[in-house]
Amino acid sequence: MTSLPLVVITGASSGIGAATARAFSAAGHPLLLIARRLAPMAALGLPEAELAEADVTDTAAVSAALARAEERFGPVDLLVNNAGLMALSAVAEQDPALVQEQFDVNCVALVKNSQLVLPGMQQRGRGTIVNIGSIAGKQLYDNHVVYNGTKYAVHAMTEGLRRENAAHGVRVLLVAPGMVDTGLLGNTGEGDVLDGYNDYKKSIGGGLVPDDIAAAILIAYQQPQHVSFREIVVAPTSQDA
Ligand code: NDP
Repeated sequence: MTSLPLVVITGASSGIGAATARAFSAAGHPLLLIARRLAPMAALGLPEAELAEADVTDTAAVSAALARAEERFGPVDLLVNNAGLMALSAVAEQDPALVQEQFDVNCVALVKNSQLVLPGMQQRGRGTIVNIGSIAGKQLYDNHVVYNGTKYAVHAMTEGLRRENAAHGVRVLLVAPGMVDTGLLGNTGEGDVLDGYNDYKKSIGGGLVPDDIAAAILIAYQQPQHVSFREIVVAPTSQDA
């Protein structure tokens, strides 16, 4: 068995999740990477990595993958709830399926997958969950009603989970990024809303790179277990909104 403990990252097939996988692998951790697309996770070429082609809303599949990874690498010490989607639109024009999916992936899966690891962490008296929130979990933006709602919920649930687990010695941390250049805009159809987002991003010289967020997650995790970086908001210096 490897000396450093198992790290589980959801949404590891692109963007922030993939960068986080690279960062923790470089730091020497064995990994369980979870996403619906296997090929981009395999293309990362990371050693000691269990790959799970699974939807995070499929709790049974996530649970089975977790069991496989723990069998191979020992108990999970960090879960990064990163998988998420953003579909920007005025609500009157939004596809109801995307309303449902944003809450299912960004919120419900985050809680249910946390339930898979919390009892073990509580028993061991250590462990960390990092939830990826957003600056959109702190302030409202136009055409963000549903996404704002999911991320405000993530922030509230992270703080609640943190309080609930404090006495168990388990850390629950929030990392809330500002604009980052990733595939996140893929669920927002072409048009004025997408153009407005991209125009603002261009006006501030572009977003952060996923590696910037991965570095923040790694720094928070690498603190001693008794030190809790409860909340990290990390955005481009030039982002004023
Ligand atoms: P990407 O679109 O690049 O990555 C999203 C990841 O989530 C992909 O790996 C995708 O994998 C995965 N995912 C989505 N739905 C599911 C699902 N049902 N089951 C399993 N995996 C899923 O975007 P980011 O890297 O930007 O997003 C990562 C997180 O960062 C999200 O929670 C997002 O809200 C948050 N964030 C991003 C910001 C930004 O500006 N980019 C700003 C603030 C927060 P696959 O499609 O293979 O399943």
